[in-house]
Amino acid sequence: MPLTPEQQAEIDALRDAPQQTLRATVPGMEKHLYVAHQVLDHGLVRVIDYMGDDAAICQAARVSYGRGTKSVQNDEGLIRYLMRHWHSTPFEMCEVKFHVKLPVFVARQWIRHRTANVNEYSARYSILDREFYIPAPEHLAAQSSQNNQGRGEILQGEEAQRVLRLLQEDAMRSYDHYEDMLSQDGQQGLARELARMNLPANVYTQWYWKVDLHNLLHFLRLRADSHAQYEIRAYADAMCQIVADWVPAAFAAFRDYRMDAVSLSAQAVAVLKRRLAGEVVTKDDSGMGAREWREFEEIWGN
Ligand SMILES: Cc1cc2nc3c(=O)[nH]c(=O)nc-3n(C[C@H](O)[C@H](O)[C@H](O)COP(=O)(O)OP(=O)(O)OC[C@H]3O[C@@H](n4cnc5c(N)ncnc54)[C@H](O)[C@@H]3O)c2cc1C
Repeated sequence: MPLTPEQQAEIDALRDAPQQTLRATVPGMEKHLYVAHQVLDHGLVRVIDYMGDDAAICQAARVSYGRGTKSVQNDEGLIRYLMRHWHSTPFEMCEVKFHVKLPVFVARQWIRHRTANVNEYSARYSILDREFYIPAPEHLAAQSSQNNQGRGEILQGEEAQRVLRLLQEDAMRSYDHYEDMLSQDGQQGLARELARMNLPANVYTQWYWKVDLHNLLHFLRLRADSHAQYEIRAYADAMCQIVADWVPAAFAAFRDYRMDAVSLSAQAVAVLKRRLAGEVVTKDDSGMGAREWREFEEIWGN
């Protein structure tokens, strides 16, 4: 269970006390407000607050376009136009604040996204819980032989069991020593800020993460992508569902023009034109390097 009973009681109390507001609200997002969505074994993502909706994006765009917007028929068309042409600032008018509980090694990847506001649980001030991420057997994979930054086949049988046992035993042993060092029974007790350094990177931390929609979509573009590590992708996937319910038009445009789109280099455009004219183009006369050619063929075939 990713939530403590106290956290669950707080969520129930907040959801039992709706308040009237004159601000824009989105029924799809109200459904998510405060509710914890479980991610991985002990992690969660939940919406704490949000501002704006699809209409707020259009409202901001119309300020910048003024009378020039007459040709844009509707909000959805305008949002698609903005996304297609990388007109990003209207998307910054929407904001969302998440509460995320995640393993430290995932947090290290996540924190590289600098365009958010973060407040993390203090392991100097408080004692961390005995919660560690242990991958489900279907995610316990071997090193990829093709991609240095990726996974290959799923570990099987005795090896899988041994790896799981090592992960569990090491986590528990580290936590036992953590508690032992903190303890003030018959000793001074080591400071929390020092004792924590003995904990492995799969221990869970928590933070509040507030970001505008433009930068959130940038994060999702990178982290809901198949090249991202599974563990951070699991969070990004859960957030995609939430964003789709919050700003459906913006998310649909994002899916069409970013997530499911491909960008073409000048060389790729030239090769496609030559192919359309009936020419057989090989890697050697494509102007592309081996890796770029392989990526090109993965999308366009050979
Ligand atoms: C699949 C994958 C593999 C990765 N592998 C590695 C790796 O091996 N090693 C590694 O170190 N990192 C790695 N990264 C992290 C990656 O290089 C970026 O640091 C991370 O994705 C954050 O992206 P960002 O800077 O665009 O995001 P944000 O920090 O949110 O910034 C958004 C945009 O704002 C602008 N911006 C923000 N801050 C600045 C600034 N200070 N100066 C200039 N422009 C700024 C940039 O245009 C940036 O694109 C990986 C990321 C992915 C998705």
